[in-house]
Amino acid sequence: MPESSSASKPRLESKSLSLSPELNQLHDTIRACKNCGLHATRTQAVPGIGPCPADVMIVGEAPGFNEDRQGEPFVGAAGKLLDTLLARIGLSRADVYITNVLKCRPPMNRDPMPNEAEACSPYLQQQLRLIKPKVLLILGRHALERLLPGQGSISRIHGSMIKRGDIAYIPLYHPAAALHNGSLVADLERDFDNVKKYLDQVLAPPPPPVPIPAPKQEPEQLSLL
Ligand code: URA
Repeated sequence: MPESSSASKPRLESKSLSLSPELNQLHDTIRACKNCGLHATRTQAVPGIGPCPADVMIVGEAPGFNEDRQGEPFVGAAGKLLDTLLARIGLSRADVYITNVLKCRPPMNRDPMPNEAEACSPYLQQQLRLIKPKVLLILGRHALERLLPGQGSISRIHGSMIKRGDIAYIPLYHPAAALHNGSLVADLERDFDNVKKYLDQVLAPPPPPVPIPAPKQEPEQLSLL
């Protein structure tokens, strides 16, 4: 996959090594969670990884086989493609906070069930509150349903930017979908190029204030006398 030669790093404010005790505590709570049946089949929960706060947050569907083993999101084949796409726009994993709608692997990688997504939803909401992303990349239809319900299908709105409150949401095809259907790779590459443009807009420093011209001095009235 060709990488863009102009992959300058976006102007991120987030620091790659920032730590948050509150987020660490949330991760511990997620690791101990038994709010739905998935706890019985997981090796471990996969809370998320990355700086806090972070300008860019990425939300996928659910941990797969490798993530369940390693406790980290997107470490398998889909993760490798995600890394390549991030590098294409000058970002690395250390720049972004990555998590999933579900924090535990569904058996045989089946789709998330509504009750499972519902049980995990407060965790995603708390992550959003702590991470405070300016831009949120939504990977795939399950994350889209959760984060922008009723917004339309991923095939229609992928690559667009949807502002809601303080966050710019960008729905994208899931990298795993592109691994199954190679024709989606070109869509993902084009959409990531757009992500770079959106990031440059959203993270641009505010323009300097326009100086207000001082009021003109009236010329002194000439006396005709
Ligand atoms: N697919 C996902 O949606 N999330 C992961 O963490 C890995 C693969």
